[in-house]
Amino acid sequence: MKAPLIGISGSIKEETGRQDVVRGYLTSVLGGGGIPLLMSVDMNEQQVAECLSRLDGLMLAGGIDVDPALYDEWPLTTLGEVHPLRDQFELSLVKEALRLRMPVFGICRGIQLLNVALGGTLYQDLPTQYQPADGSPCMQHIQTAPPQYASHQVAVKEGSPLRAILGRDRLGVNSYHHEAIKSLSPRLSVCAQAPDGVIEAVYDPELPFLLGVQWHPERMDDASSRAIFGAFVKAATEYAARK
Ligand code: MN
Repeated sequence: MKAPLIGISGSIKEETGRQDVVRGYLTSVLGGGGIPLLMSVDMNEQQVAECLSRLDGLMLAGGIDVDPALYDEWPLTTLGEVHPLRDQFELSLVKEALRLRMPVFGICRGIQLLNVALGGTLYQDLPTQYQPADGSPCMQHIQTAPPQYASHQVAVKEGSPLRAILGRDRLGVNSYHHEAIKSLSPRLSVCAQAPDGVIEAVYDPELPFLLGVQWHPERMDDASSRAIFGAFVKAATEYAARK
């Protein structure tokens, strides 16, 4: 069986005119048995459709914030950098991937973009906007430890695809986000939450494989992270076989 081709969205570096992606996304896909390809952010909708018709999976990488205008909020002073071109490109990718029922894996910004693309909203800045329901103080979601170390646990929901992939109900994850899901898209279901209630992983129950995680498995290099990439690449392999 052929290794599936996985299209990856990357970052735009306006000041240097570069478009790039952190190497770990690529090596993690390779490690799972897939072939990663960085896609041009300058593709229009027709080119996105042409491109995805030749691919077997879509990975939405991490990066800057999602423009809150996309969920009808004005930008707070605590909002980070945004780039409307990357937003529009990734919204086109998601729309086409869902139309094709292609496997999609979103990481960090990727889970946030998926939620917004499917009608949900975000906290623009967790530390100033989020209050755990039980009144306890906000947890730190931007860790100071190196990224290969977990800084908080997540509870993995029974019956969720993530639980099936991991075979465990708790997982230690790294954390490098100041945004997170506020209102969940009606299409998505939660598959993992931090102890403070922050949504850390979601899936679409109607699709063969759509997973978003708020942490960075591509920077952890542990058995659980490899299992997640392996499951994504397996879904892409199955999609390729169905085409
Ligand atoms: Mn976190």
